[in-house]
Amino acid sequence: MPELPEVEVVRRGVADHAVGRTVASVEVLHPRAVRRQPGGAPELAVRLAGRTLVAARRRGKFLWVDLDDGTALLAHLGMSGQLLVQPAERPDEKHLRVRLRFLDDGSELRFVDQRTFGGLTAVDTVSSDGERVPLPVEHIGRDPLDPAFDLEAAVGAYRRRRTELKRALLDQTLVSGIGNIYADESLWRARLHSLRPTARLTRPDVRKVLTAAHEVMTESLAQGGTSFDALYVDVHGDSGYFSRSLAVYGREDEPCLRCGTPIRRSAFTNRSSFWCPTCQRVPRRT
Ligand SMILES: [Zn+2]
Repeated sequence: MPELPEVEVVRRGVADHAVGRTVASVEVLHPRAVRRQPGGAPELAVRLAGRTLVAARRRGKFLWVDLDDGTALLAHLGMSGQLLVQPAERPDEKHLRVRLRFLDDGSELRFVDQRTFGGLTAVDTVSSDGERVPLPVEHIGRDPLDPAFDLEAAVGAYRRRRTELKRALLDQTLVSGIGNIYADESLWRARLHSLRPTARLTRPDVRKVLTAAHEVMTESLAQGGTSFDALYVDVHGDSGYFSRSLAVYGREDEPCLRCGTPIRRSAFTNRSSFWCPTCQRVPRRT
């Protein structure tokens, strides 16, 4: 599943290669990819035809394109969705689901999705935290890479919650964009255990873990994203390299990069948590 740095890589690709262009036509090759559009493929085609792509934007892992009539095209990448900018003469990908052609007859914007959990939806926008965002993004918090991200407000919101730290990190309404991989990496960097109760954390502790999240995602972005999932690629089909730089995620029984203690794996909901039992002490039960 793509995490924030991967989505940001895709956003930049769309911004560089599709923004400023006007949609000529929309071709839906699989109805599942437009199932969130109430009127299905015909509605998507009508809403997009003739529209110019104004900006490619993101909040957390939500990615969308602003259109020149004030609406937006929201991309759900799901588990395996890809947005590719491809030369028109390039043969269709096996799992091509939606194709946008532009008036300039140049490259196409293609939505490719092997597992078809993702899709495209043309949506109306609403005002949220001082800007227009697609309706489904209304309650999503800003992410640590957002220039308008308010660290101190986020620290306060965490400490008011009655939950465990990793659950708070994954709560997209508090701070968005932190998924399972980056939560584990951030906790390890901040030397905090995932089960620490948020209400008993100090402000410096919360600041430390959110700053770590910012760092780890910035570093990942510099390397083109994690691409832990081989399906994940940028708009040109290239994958990132950050998975080689992960300190704990996926490293069960390998030595902690700080202290040498073997990394542990624990069950977390239907996924896993990776952590160092020396650097990240398990909280005492009270
Ligand atoms: Zn350690």
